[in-house]
Amino acid sequence: MSLKEKLNVVEENICRACQRAGRDRKDVTLIAVSKTKPVWMLKEVYDLGICQFGENKVQELMDKYSVLPPDINWHMIGHLQRNKVKYIIDKAALIHSVDSLRLADMIEAEAAKRQITVNVLLEVNIAREETKYGLMPEEVIRTAESFANYKNICVQGLMTIAPFVENPEENRVHFANLHKLSVDIAKKNIDNVYMSVLSMGMTNDYEVAIEEGATHVRVGTGIFGERVYKSI
Ligand SMILES: *Cc1c(COP(=O)(O)O)cnc(C)c1O
Repeated sequence: MSLKEKLNVVEENICRACQRAGRDRKDVTLIAVSKTKPVWMLKEVYDLGICQFGENKVQELMDKYSVLPPDINWHMIGHLQRNKVKYIIDKAALIHSVDSLRLADMIEAEAAKRQITVNVLLEVNIAREETKYGLMPEEVIRTAESFANYKNICVQGLMTIAPFVENPEENRVHFANLHKLSVDIAKKNIDNVYMSVLSMGMTNDYEVAIEEGATHVRVGTGIFGERVYKSI
């Protein structure tokens, strides 16, 4: 299948999931996860009308940012080290992976220097997997409350990376739990904390995620094909 055909399949699946859930297609944003993929592929997908791209490495995001059109929204979806915040703070439209107040402090400091407001999501380890980054579910409300004190960070919602499972139905409960958590936080009306974004669902499970309320799905393989990691 060509990139165009694969993108069409993803688009149809998103539309159908929206229909099943009684949701408007406009309320779900497709992020094309382009990590490891060459610039020409991103350009081809961009020319097909996609302008939201997700990367998980700072250097790769910067390299692609510098050569691709300026109207692209770049999503930082990978674990972010504090010493690299300064490189992407003015390039990422949304940082999905804020998982500690130490990281938030660094984002706040760099944002204040530049007099900008940075949009972030709190990453939640919703299935409590030992190997995953993210706040534990019971920490999220307390952490969100701390964001009332920041002046240059706006929390737009929550993000999770669900477990790798054979059957996407197994992740439905996790997506539903993340949704519920975001509703609980929204009710608290915390300054600087909005719960308008729910970033969940990848190639294997984005349809279930949409049925459970995802506003942003992060699809890599489904659009670009399998990733090949070069061994060193
Ligand atoms: C790689 C990645 C994705 C996309 O994964 P696919 O299974 O290829 O769709 C989504 N989110 C994050 C955080 C990722 O690192």
